[in-house]
Amino acid sequence: LKGSGKDPYPDWKPGEPVPYAALCTTFSLIEMTTKRLIISSHCSLFLRQVLRLTPDELLPTIHLMINKLAADYAGIELGIGESLIMKAIGESTGRSLTVIKNDQNQIGDLGLVAAKSRSNQPTMFKPKALTVRGVLDGLMGIATVSGHGSQDKKIAGIKKLLSAADTSAAGKGSKGIDITKDKGGASETKFIIRFLEGKLRLGLAEKTVLVALAHAMVAHETEKKGNKVPSGDALSKGESILKTVYSELPSYEVVVPAMLEHGIFHLRENCKLQPGVPLKPMLAKPTKSITEVLDRFEGKTFTCEYKYDGERAQIHYVAEDSPQQYASSGPEPGKRKKGLSAIFSRNSEDLSKKYPDILAKLHTWIRPETKSFVLDCETVAWDLQEKKVLPFQQLMTRKRKDVKADEITVKVCVFAFDMLFYNGEAVVEKSLRERRELLHSAFSAVESEFAFAQYGDTSELEEIQVLLDESVKSSCEGLMVKMLDTDESGYEPSKRSRNWLKVKKDYLSGVGDSLDLVVLGAYYGKGKRTSVYGAFLLACYNSSKQIYETVCNIGTGFSEAILEELHSKLSENTIDRPKPFYSHSQVPKDQPDVWFEPRFVWEVKTADLTLSPRYKAGADALNDASGKGISLRFPRFIKEREDKKTEEATGSRMVVEMYQKQESVGKNKGPSVDDDF
Ligand code: ATP
Repeated sequence: LKGSGKDPYPDWKPGEPVPYAALCTTFSLIEMTTKRLIISSHCSLFLRQVLRLTPDELLPTIHLMINKLAADYAGIELGIGESLIMKAIGESTGRSLTVIKNDQNQIGDLGLVAAKSRSNQPTMFKPKALTVRGVLDGLMGIATVSGHGSQDKKIAGIKKLLSAADTSAAGKGSKGIDITKDKGGASETKFIIRFLEGKLRLGLAEKTVLVALAHAMVAHETEKKGNKVPSGDALSKGESILKTVYSELPSYEVVVPAMLEHGIFHLRENCKLQPGVPLKPMLAKPTKSITEVLDRFEGKTFTCEYKYDGERAQIHYVAEDSPQQYASSGPEPGKRKKGLSAIFSRNSEDLSKKYPDILAKLHTWIRPETKSFVLDCETVAWDLQEKKVLPFQQLMTRKRKDVKADEITVKVCVFAFDMLFYNGEAVVEKSLRERRELLHSAFSAVESEFAFAQYGDTSELEEIQVLLDESVKSSCEGLMVKMLDTDESGYEPSKRSRNWLKVKKDYLSGVGDSLDLVVLGAYYGKGKRTSVYGAFLLACYNSSKQIYETVCNIGTGFSEAILEELHSKLSENTIDRPKPFYSHSQVPKDQPDVWFEPRFVWEVKTADLTLSPRYKAGADALNDASGKGISLRFPRFIKEREDKKTEEATGSRMVVEMYQKQESVGKNKGPSVDDDF
């Protein structure tokens, strides 16, 4: 946008729709660098141009940048399967499926395959230029079509977008970029296809877009006041405001219009946590011993709560007679309505249809003065006769959708442990002690239905040990140890915080925690297991590079029945070759027999972590001269984690941290990265 002084986007006039080609040019500039600051500044310069020329289209632009059609809680899923996309590319470019598959085998990136197919295609007439809003609407149509004939409709939708996409090697404004190269092609086709696959592969993390948006907004407001360059202080203040607001209210549908209306520096007062918009929950750091907890919390007051083994749930409620209106969930995020009761999962999925029994009884657990709240809790499978907690596996057998309250066989009890919003006010900044008091005053326990998480406020090692043993006897996983007073005990949405520590009984002698890993490939079984997969290739997620890094092969912990079930699920998701965003060994003997779409997350236990040339986890961070990554020793399958998206799998940095912590045991120098990854 700086350039030679010429207008880089001559077709984009104030008030006119944002040309999709302009966004693709920015994407290709981003794609050509790995430097975070440069990526961020390309992103921010583009957003600034949108603010100058077409601010109404800031929201669709952001959605295309973050590769999401709507906020998570709207439940609109992308990640269209490879075979469907190939079919659409073939049909829209007149090339056979065999040719497309051959290209895919050679090039390995469907975006580039599509771009190549389009560039070879003679065009009879110049299609009308695509706009950012037009592309977003088209993609939304493809993602949301359902029911009879939906596959054909999706293909038709993709074809429509592809036939309107620019076939030239470069998008307008960035001449001379070669699309046949992996990097730098500004082809609209390439980015439409990558969006559909759910990976733009730009190294553009959502956090970077958020920061770039804050900077663009600050620069724009500074310019409007007649100043040319914003101060460093103003930029960091804007960044901090937007980060805080977004962590409490993770919906661009709500935040962007509010920011345009009130300005970034007044966003905090006008945009706060509200029922209807689920926030990403606060998470805990793993520990390996009670003494590690005592070291961390020395001199501070803390509490030890039972760690229930169920499903994290965030319950949002507004009474019908409440004067306030709140954002609704579902396909129209941001729209306001009266009265609300909804349950969301740890990754903001709407679970209301899974738990109609909870929603039906909710009003009987609250005190009359409670008019609205957001509650953090765990739903746990419950034995009505014995009046005790049942194992997590029982909960997993409960249907996820269209559950009829009177047909429920797996009963649940809700164990509440935190309050984030109460009677019209966000309370996340209060101390945990205050939030707990609010929680206890807002609800009444009801046997076998609603209970407060058990806790003990103690800093004595022996007493903590007793609590840990008792929690395990009550079928819990261990303890959650939490800072109780001071400003360190506030609720930190979306953070894996050092102010919450988990002590799991099972892992006290291991690496401190299990890992949640993504299944990338599988090996056929031997002996009587030849008709199923006998072992699997697993990976962790590197969120800054947006790639999956292999971390182990696993063949232990599976019953025959589970292997059969996994085979039938996974075999529907095979792909011909690894995705370009898989980082794995290139040695022929290390290759799995089949590769999969990244769809499944499994919890895995390990004895310890070690370095290995065969795996890639954390290889960058370790910077080992021989390119070794970290791998799990003696990994064992525990369970499927259907409640986690693949991007929420254990992060590469976490694996590195666990490895380094293990290496430094006894040297008392474990690293303390205090961020979610
Ligand atoms: P895990 O596999 O251990 O559940 P996780 O990544 O899902 O890991 P963590 O932050 O590591 O989440 O562990 C906290 C989880 O434990 C919460 O997400 C919640 O589901 C559950 N939990 C059970 N009891 C409590 C409690 N008293 N306080 C907070 N979380 C609890």
